[in-house]
Amino acid sequence: MRRKWILIILGLFLIYALAIYVYLFHGANTAIPESMRGTNADPSTFMNKELLEKSETYSKIRNFFFFISTPLEWLFYAVVLISGLSKGLEKWGKQSWKRRSVQISAYVFWLSLLLFIVFLPLSYIRYKISLAYGISSQVFSSWMKDNFIEFWVDLGMTLIVVLVLYWLIRKSPARWWLYSWLLCIPFTIFVMFIQPVVIDPLYNDFYPLKDKVLEEQILDLAAKANIPAEHVYEVNMSEKTNSLNAYVTGVGSNSRIVLWDTTLNSLEDDEILFIMAHEMAHYVEKHIYLGIAGYLVLMLVGLWLTDKWMKRAIRNRGELYHLESMSDIRSLPLFLLITSILLFAASPVTNYVSRVQETRADTYALNMTDNPEAAISSFQKLSEKGLSQMNPPLLIKIFRNSHPTMLERIEMAEKYKK
Ligand SMILES: [Zn+2]
Repeated sequence: MRRKWILIILGLFLIYALAIYVYLFHGANTAIPESMRGTNADPSTFMNKELLEKSETYSKIRNFFFFISTPLEWLFYAVVLISGLSKGLEKWGKQSWKRRSVQISAYVFWLSLLLFIVFLPLSYIRYKISLAYGISSQVFSSWMKDNFIEFWVDLGMTLIVVLVLYWLIRKSPARWWLYSWLLCIPFTIFVMFIQPVVIDPLYNDFYPLKDKVLEEQILDLAAKANIPAEHVYEVNMSEKTNSLNAYVTGVGSNSRIVLWDTTLNSLEDDEILFIMAHEMAHYVEKHIYLGIAGYLVLMLVGLWLTDKWMKRAIRNRGELYHLESMSDIRSLPLFLLITSILLFAASPVTNYVSRVQETRADTYALNMTDNPEAAISSFQKLSEKGLSQMNPPLLIKIFRNSHPTMLERIEMAEKYKK
């Protein structure tokens, strides 16, 4: 019976993967629309044939991995539950330790380790492909080191969350979702606050901009936008990647605008100033705070739905999952499965909001710098260096893209010119 269920979900996953493959590689139309051919938004005007083909294939592979990896995680959680592995892990923890918190910690450690080991080959394949296409420039040891850091950081965070969560579920089976959400608020803000100074430096080196002439220009721009100067940082990424990036991170006194050194090395000063103006727009319009607020609303709905869904699943299919009560730690894979499905289902909404903010930031930057040529050439270089698809398939736009497509962004800068 259980074996039959595992085979069924495995079969469903394979059918899904095949459908996604056909859609991405043979179905979706990613050609440049007729009206845009030959314009600055047409990649054939700024990339050679070889690069064009590379970027198409690389994007397709990346998109495929994107659509496969989350459902693969769902498959993992379902198999861990149905096979009885989760129950076995819990039992082993109970036999080995007396304290409930230690039993839970041991369970979380082994589940995280298993997840890490199962998904390591997948991320290794991604890394090798990225190397082959010249995006990643990271040596294996450095890549592995990042993986280990990520494992321990994730484990630490998960432990804190799970210990509190299961304590709340036990204390208040009916209202745990509300109390968890209330705790989420300070926790989220705390994590956002320490992110730039504690977590990010575990992976890369951050320092104030080295180029003092450019720094002066950026400070002028920042003064126009009323941004405190110490918020611009450079991060050493060229040992890891060839792609370009810049972002705003953190909250309160730790908030900062970060530029990858690859961006500084590949773009002209006026292009960097456009990118900076874009990042400043996020800062000025408080997009991070709006993001946190939106995220907390989603969390409230999500936790409430998780409560309803978990209780229902245990009532109706408890035997299949080896579950009797939500308060047992062996229900954790079900919790992770449901929250992951809900997050994926919410991603079209979160991406949409993000795209609105990104469009606003582009508009702000165009108005502030009044240099659409620099905007266009920086978008072109971003696409070229990152091998990004100018016109991705519809499902990718909906589920994956937090930014408007490069086609749309260049078109917008063109309109600004007129
Ligand atoms: Zn942005």
